Amino acid sequence: MRIDLHTHSTASDGTDSPAELVRAAHRAGLDVMAITDHDTTAGWDAALAERPSTMTVVPGAEFSCVHHTPSGRRISLHLLGYLFDPEADELRRERMRLRESRERRAGLIVEHLQAAGYPITWAQVAAIAEGGSVGRPHIARALVAAGAARDVPSAFVELLSSRHPYYVAKQDTPVLDAIRLIRAAGGVAVFAHPLARRRGPVVDDDVVAAMTEAGLAGMEVDHPDHDEFDRAHGARLARELDLIPLGSSDYHGTNKTVRLGECVTDPRAYERLVDIGTARRPVAG
Ligand code: AMP
Ligand code: FE
Ligand code: FE
Ligand code: ZN
Repeated sequence: MRIDLHTHSTASDGTDSPAELVRAAHRAGLDVMAITDHDTTAGWDAALAERPSTMTVVPGAEFSCVHHTPSGRRISLHLLGYLFDPEADELRRERMRLRESRERRAGLIVEHLQAAGYPITWAQVAAIAEGGSVGRPHIARALVAAGAARDVPSAFVELLSSRHPYYVAKQDTPVLDAIRLIRAAGGVAVFAHPLARRRGPVVDDDVVAAMTEAGLAGMEVDHPDHDEFDRAHGARLARELDLIPLGSSDYHGTNKTVRLGECVTDPRAYERLVDIGTARRPVAG
């Protein structure tokens, strides 16, 4: 069984439509995949409807969260939620709030880039996002179209990371609140790429322990943004905290170079995960 529980579609910052995504997952030899767009469930219906009959699809989402350190540092982090009730009101309102914050913030980043002479517009970015949850990869593509960056990854390295002056933070959900909301909606909360240092600062192990106290069920160990050392450390931490260790590609279509199934989850870990979700079941057969 090949299982990849972290992928993005055009409902957020991937480049495959939900229907294309489930077909691509099938062609990549996956048996189980999850659709986990940023702060939205908009891709669920199409992904489930277009699912090849031999493919199991797990409905999920990736939530934008924040942790504030005692010294006042802001650390952005991502939580995967699986098998939650998409109608659960508090969580649904929080997704809406996050998407609105994404729009405001993307508009501000575009303004900062314009002020520095980069010829991109909000209308262009909105057109690229096609009504999906808007993110920096959409701005990156506008920069590529304007000839200001070679490709999406270089746009991040050269202009869009949190270390650059154009960056604006979103109004993300405090991570312990997000865990409680996912759980209250019957879902399973998993820490996405907890050790991906390349993207920015990451939280210490004691924060992962506090997240576990709050109801975190698992964490990604094998992930393209984790090096050998991170994976060894992540595996040890997951064992210590009795968290389910997952492996996932975080596929984003042509916005990233990773392939579907590049990292995969052990079937026993997958079984543990689906046993915890109470609102929805994976869709199979
Ligand atoms: P945002 O959600 O708007 O803060 O943008 C974060 C998203 O940008 C992540 O979910 C990734 O899809 C993408 N991303 C982050 N860093 C990079 C990078 N170095 N190269 C390409 N995509 C990236
Ligand atoms: Fe993304
Ligand atoms: Fe993420
Ligand atoms: Zn992701």
